[in-house]
Amino acid sequence: MDVELRGVRAVLTDIEGTTSSIAFVKDVLFPYARQHLPRFIAAHGGDPEVAHWLDATAREAGIEDSTSRRVVDTLLRWIDEDRKATPLKAIEGMIWRAGYAAGDYQAHVYPEVPERLRAWRDQGLRLYVYSSGSVAAQKLLFGHTEAGDLSLLFDGWFDTEIGGKRERGSYLRIAEAIALTPPAIVFLSDIGAELDAARGTGMQTVQLCRPPTRCPESGTHACVTDFGSIAFA
Ligand SMILES: [Mg+2]
Repeated sequence: MDVELRGVRAVLTDIEGTTSSIAFVKDVLFPYARQHLPRFIAAHGGDPEVAHWLDATAREAGIEDSTSRRVVDTLLRWIDEDRKATPLKAIEGMIWRAGYAAGDYQAHVYPEVPERLRAWRDQGLRLYVYSSGSVAAQKLLFGHTEAGDLSLLFDGWFDTEIGGKRERGSYLRIAEAIALTPPAIVFLSDIGAELDAARGTGMQTVQLCRPPTRCPESGTHACVTDFGSIAFA
């Protein structure tokens, strides 16, 4: 079913499950970081940027020697525990950057997404990303998609530094940061609780239910299966 939105000046989009498959992040990116982490640190542990984050890891884990193998083990354990530690995110970001640069993978985007984003921009809409992945990881992802570099289409990027995705306050801060009132923004996401939080501020919302997922029978948010079903009046 098509959704027609009115009064929207900016689109704020989630990534996983919305512009891109959850599987790309879960089955490609995260395993790549885990697999390459020991070798990456062996090769680059002396680089100032890497060393800085190894020190931070050691501090957080109470390890005295930041060159110890225990630091690598700690990072691997954090990955397994899905810990959102800043040093881990930073190091993963560097590994992914190397992986994209080497052409080991390209980011998935659903087929209609690039064309729709361009069309929305041509209509005068501003485009923003809000994802739990770090801003650095978001820029890498959209900079290296199967459809080329899409990063220049976006006007700004938000991650959980601004707050959690299920918290109303995060959406208020984003609206303030982009200097629009919430009703002038539409938030696109696959997750109902995130959409609820956004709507709590007055933002417009559209849920993405990518096949094989289906739109709920009695959902409280407008729901589409792809970006092609969203129109702006
Ligand atoms: Mg999502």
